[in-house]
Amino acid sequence: MTSSHVDVLIIGAGPAGVMAGNALASAGVNVRIIDKRPAKVMAGQADGIQPRTIEVFQSYGLAQSLLERGNQMHSLAFYNPRKDGKGVERTSRVPDISAPSARYRFEITIHQGEIESLFLDSMRTHGLEVERPIMPESIEVSNNEKELASKDSYPVKVVLKHLADATIDPTPNGAHTNDVEPALQASGSELETVYAKYVLGADGAHSFVRNSLGIELDGEHTDHVWGVVDCVPVTNFPDIRNRTAIHSDNGSCMIIPREGDKVRLYVQIAEELQVDEQGRKDRSLITPEKVMEMAKRSMQPFDLEFPDPPEWWTCYVIGQRVAKSFSIKERVFIAGDACHTHSPKAGQGMNASMNDSHNLSWKLAHVLRGWASAEILKTYEFERQKYARDLINFDKRLADLFSGKAVTPENAGGVTHQEFQGLLQSMGGFTSGIGIQYGQSLITDPTCQSLAPGLVIGQRFIPQVIIRVADTRPYEIQDLLVSDTKWKIVFFVGDPKEEKQRAVVNAVGEHLLSTESFTRRFTPKGLPKDAVFTLLTVSSTSKDDADYTDIHPGLRTHWSKAFTDDIAIDERAGGTAYSTYGINPASGAVVCCRPDGYVSFVCSMQDVTRGRLQEYFDTFMIRASA
Ligand code: FAD
Repeated sequence: MTSSHVDVLIIGAGPAGVMAGNALASAGVNVRIIDKRPAKVMAGQADGIQPRTIEVFQSYGLAQSLLERGNQMHSLAFYNPRKDGKGVERTSRVPDISAPSARYRFEITIHQGEIESLFLDSMRTHGLEVERPIMPESIEVSNNEKELASKDSYPVKVVLKHLADATIDPTPNGAHTNDVEPALQASGSELETVYAKYVLGADGAHSFVRNSLGIELDGEHTDHVWGVVDCVPVTNFPDIRNRTAIHSDNGSCMIIPREGDKVRLYVQIAEELQVDEQGRKDRSLITPEKVMEMAKRSMQPFDLEFPDPPEWWTCYVIGQRVAKSFSIKERVFIAGDACHTHSPKAGQGMNASMNDSHNLSWKLAHVLRGWASAEILKTYEFERQKYARDLINFDKRLADLFSGKAVTPENAGGVTHQEFQGLLQSMGGFTSGIGIQYGQSLITDPTCQSLAPGLVIGQRFIPQVIIRVADTRPYEIQDLLVSDTKWKIVFFVGDPKEEKQRAVVNAVGEHLLSTESFTRRFTPKGLPKDAVFTLLTVSSTSKDDADYTDIHPGLRTHWSKAFTDDIAIDERAGGTAYSTYGINPASGAVVCCRPDGYVSFVCSMQDVTRGRLQEYFDTFMIRASA
């Protein structure tokens, strides 16, 4: 048996795994990623990318291709039974996304394999390839406290099986499910022992990592069974290119328009299904033809024909479960479907999974580099488990409303259109990912929220166009908050052309040049001075008067880092950052943005010279040795 050492071993190369692989490889972390499948997913599974996830893709420089290749969903239509009993009619059409601060106010739909490809291509540029087909045979975490406390130890031992000639059957009994493991056949295998500092189990709903380490799931399977087909229908249904929720007397159906002419149809399976010894519903009688027939019936009086067989189909039992713990001793973590499963209708699966890894990756990089205390790793479970619980609660409400029959004269107690539309719209901030709020913790300190009430501490940094002072080029502020594992400290300096404010700005600049500065204190010796912190300034001076030289050299690491809040030359955007964020231009404010784009701390300009930034970072960052 061979053996090896690695800093991070990722098990599973689905959306959660490849997001982590790419983030860690691009940060220069020593990482390996393995998967038991001989090849990546070619069709089907998840397909919806929410607005916040598009922002996250953009922060890694990966949104462009997604925007070009994916289908954009801008509108959401609702269909309900006609009063004359002759099928359904449209009740309303509303914006698909009700999250006003979203940079992208639409969802993108594209199949999971395409999303994974984006990351695989990007990982390759950082020298990381998925190793397949490989699966773990055992995993153990050391109990030795000394070993666990050391940042240089390898306390996780994983025995890997390198499979030969592996094939996977993704369609057991003709049905894809999230409660039955796809069968894997492999002949022969070689074993390898890997000693890892950290392991990430991104190995899906049946997670080997979760099961081996005895992490239990809270929650249960529901009675709701859904059939899904990816197809190219011929139809006169007017909203076939909009997300559409149909509540008919013949069952419920959700339409998701996809790339090209493709459409995904979700239908609720109304018929009674037999239950096997394990309590699972027997879906073997459900065929794609049945699913398509049900979709046809729910869309009457409109025509719906399927000239070709579906590209992919699945029969889904909804499991609504959250793992009781997301980590073992902060050395093994689980992410994605390994931690939470829920219905696919709100389009959250891939998003929740990738955002778990986005949350964890920079924290791992910080700890591995010796920049931050391992305590920050606890915030992963604190933040993402709360989010997963909220997601399951939302999913339960949505699944019940979707599965319930529509209100009709014969069914007075049914689900009203207002109830259903109301839930989707009121939860728009949550489902889009835009309103996700991380609570107070070691790294999230809401004490001085009132200095910038529009930038909620614990939420992602709101997009705004600002102007680069030196060349008046407009920039989206989110494009300066890239996912490069660095902290972004945004100094809203007010107007340094005014004498009083200039004195404040100069005092902060002098302080940052001194040995007392937080940048010096927490940037390890020998690294470039901007290795850990990127300092940005946003003034309130008019672009016609502003000069980048107005900013004291202690605050200005480069001319390209000085911005102002003014309208762009083409007058299309800009000039609303201070008002949107609620920052008073007469006094300014300082905003800390975490490496994953979330606002974590705010203080006044004067607080900087009083050492408030040092105090904040001192709670979790490691001081550079003198
Ligand atoms: P996964 O995408 O499941 O990725 C896990 C990866 O780990 C896989 O590549 C797997 O091969 C690998 N793996 C698993 N076990 C091991 C092991 N022991 N060793 C090595 N590698 C391992 N979502 C929707 O929104 N709509 C849908 O219609 C829909 N249909 C789905 C149908 C199926 C069959 C499945 C499995 C999921 C479906 N989902 C759907 C859910 C969606 O795909 C997931 O929410 C999303 O992919 C979660 O990403 P993940 O990376 O956490 O897990």
